[in-house]
Amino acid sequence: AAVEGFDIEDVEGAIEEAGHGPLPVLAVVGRPNVGKSTLVNRIIGRREAVVEDKPGVTRDRVTYEAEWAGRRFKVVDTGGWEQDVLGIDASVAAQAEYAIEAADAVVFVVDAKVGATDTDEAVVRLLRKAGKPVVLCANKVDGQSGEADASYLWSLGLGEPHPVSALHGRGTGDMLDAVLEALPEAPAQSFGTAIGGPRRIALIGRPNVGKSSLLNKVAGEERVVVNEMAGTTRDPVDEMIELGGVTWKFVDTAGIRKRVHLQQGADYYASLRTAAAVEKAEVAVVLIDASENISVQDQRIVTMAVEAGRAIVVAFNKWDTLDEERRYYLEREIETELAQIAWAPRVNVSARTGRHMEKLVPAIETALAGWETRVPTGRLNAFLGELVAAHPHPVRGGKQPRILFGTQAGTKPPRFVLFASGFIEAGYRRFIERRLREEFGFEGTPIHISVRVRE
Ligand code: GDP
Ligand code: GDP
Repeated sequence: AAVEGFDIEDVEGAIEEAGHGPLPVLAVVGRPNVGKSTLVNRIIGRREAVVEDKPGVTRDRVTYEAEWAGRRFKVVDTGGWEQDVLGIDASVAAQAEYAIEAADAVVFVVDAKVGATDTDEAVVRLLRKAGKPVVLCANKVDGQSGEADASYLWSLGLGEPHPVSALHGRGTGDMLDAVLEALPEAPAQSFGTAIGGPRRIALIGRPNVGKSSLLNKVAGEERVVVNEMAGTTRDPVDEMIELGGVTWKFVDTAGIRKRVHLQQGADYYASLRTAAAVEKAEVAVVLIDASENISVQDQRIVTMAVEAGRAIVVAFNKWDTLDEERRYYLEREIETELAQIAWAPRVNVSARTGRHMEKLVPAIETALAGWETRVPTGRLNAFLGELVAAHPHPVRGGKQPRILFGTQAGTKPPRFVLFASGFIEAGYRRFIERRLREEFGFEGTPIHISVRVRE
């Protein structure tokens, strides 16, 4: 059977693929120089996670999408940091802790040539405590002769060491097979399993924007003393806070409160923390210091939340400090620097005075509603039909590619698949996204649109 020239099975396959929910998360942890970044490059099959020999390399990108044997997952690379003032053990522990928290499974990388060190043992203890599935990677086994070194790592008590050469690719396939076995089909934070539980909020933003002040403000006044709530597991790093009569779970608040003074790699820890919090949340409240210029770092944080497909609210903090002039320039900056989330609900708050705190919850609810919106196929196609008739795609090479039909394959965030008779240009895709937003709302949510072209 066929629909407008598309094989029905292809259509169903495309819808299923586009509709995938959140992906499970794999964290790659281990001491510096054991080869984590090299391994991540192998796994993602790209040279994106650049391996640098320079100490203190900061990288804002820590999460990558990967695929193995037809299964997709996310990889969190913890390779972008260096030993800092805390000393090696503490810094390895800190980075591993953040990464493990957000992960559904962990690849623990050990340098087989060096063998297990005290630091490795410390990470093993963390892994045990976290109770997440672990795949032990004995790296730098470049040839057969290294396999004996790998076997010593049985002593770590993490099961079979997988001998791998991240550099040359040796053994990585077998290791990835083990990773797929360890990874759940759907992430533990899967939205489906959270039904009835409190909604999860990540409060994110660069250092000093006022995250901890805001958290103290909302938690201090309206904290609920709830230890166990039915059907939820309460992570000690998460905080249950009652706002507007509803209990919300602020995830990874320990990271916000933790006042560890890091020098080298501080930005990197911040990125890792943000990525971890965003992974666990349904909605991200991006806090921006309104008294300062919107920075590249603010934009990166926004991008992380957008790429993770979370509902988003932007909160401009320190509103109490703004004069008329700053307010004027801020509006201009928002238009140019935050155009990528022009659709996000916005609140202007002050964690100091408590200004507009009551607007936070409605904004969050709006964003979550947009994130969960489902457009019935009939309505979508009526809309698409009119749109395409009124604004056809420009003619290219004597042909006019047409959108034939479409469907919403998933929610959280909304995902659409459009079926077309020819290549649809980026400009036209953006036009369609704009019109979809105008028609159906989607306030506070990124939307994904993929296009399938008839062969
Ligand atoms: P990270 O600090 O754990 O992210 O480690 P990197 O990925 O930056 O690697 C540290 C060094 O070890 C680099 O010089 C890599 O080229 C090297 N390396 C990584 N994997 C292997 C491997 O499988 N075999 C060998 N011989 N060297 C490797
Ligand atoms: P974090 O690093 O994002 O957690 O930021 P903090 O909550 O530690 O705040 C950084 C600084 O900004 C502190 O000195 C706060 O007192 C100050 N601050 C936070 N919120 C506000 C606000 O709404 N107004 C003003 N004037 N200062 C604020």
